[in-house]
Amino acid sequence: MVIKSAEYLISNVDWQKCPVADKPEYAFIGRSNVGKSSLINLLTSREKLAKTSGTPGKTQLINHFLINNQWYLVDLPGYGFAKVSQGQRKAWERMIEDYLRKRPNLMNVFVLVDSRHTPQKLDIDFINQLGEWNIPFQIVFTKADKNTQLETSRNTKAFLNKLRETWQFLPASYVTSTVKKSGRDQILAFIEEMNAR
Ligand code: GDP
Repeated sequence: MVIKSAEYLISNVDWQKCPVADKPEYAFIGRSNVGKSSLINLLTSREKLAKTSGTPGKTQLINHFLINNQWYLVDLPGYGFAKVSQGQRKAWERMIEDYLRKRPNLMNVFVLVDSRHTPQKLDIDFINQLGEWNIPFQIVFTKADKNTQLETSRNTKAFLNKLRETWQFLPASYVTSTVKKSGRDQILAFIEEMNAR
């Protein structure tokens, strides 16, 4: 897919105030610092579309972008930031659950997982929750350039195996690096295919 245009539309705390649900929508979520902003910028070929925030955890908003006048890209606030209060975490959970379960045009959630680490409970729990809610998702392993290929492969396999303990069918997954600019075409090809349906 050629990205001809990418524009920021609006940020919300309330799914009901999101743009009219008249276009297919794809959301990106993951632990804070997982590389979400960098990935969004890579996908859209815009250096600063999603802000790589200096104060992670501060921006607890649902951010909508319009791509090619055809589909919405949604940057969801990251989870697992240590410095947020219990109240902030509850507010995040409510906002995310409402958005994920009620947004009618949501085609897929890309869950970003840092490929440098062995499986983390926080990511597994979030994915299991998505599965229980029957929300379509795929996994995007990030920062693949940080480890050797062997180590990345070991971590990604271990993660998928962990999911296999709970789920019979696993979703597609991608291995990406914003430094090497890898994984971009595969993700965009999937979105293009979904949009054509
Ligand atoms: P976010 O908080 O999830 O939006 O994460 P950012 O996109 O702000 O990235 C967090 C940090 O990881 C930044 O210092 C990025 O430069 C770095 N980073 C993100 N993606 C990659 C990647 O693919 N490879 C490497 N080496 N660093 C990355």
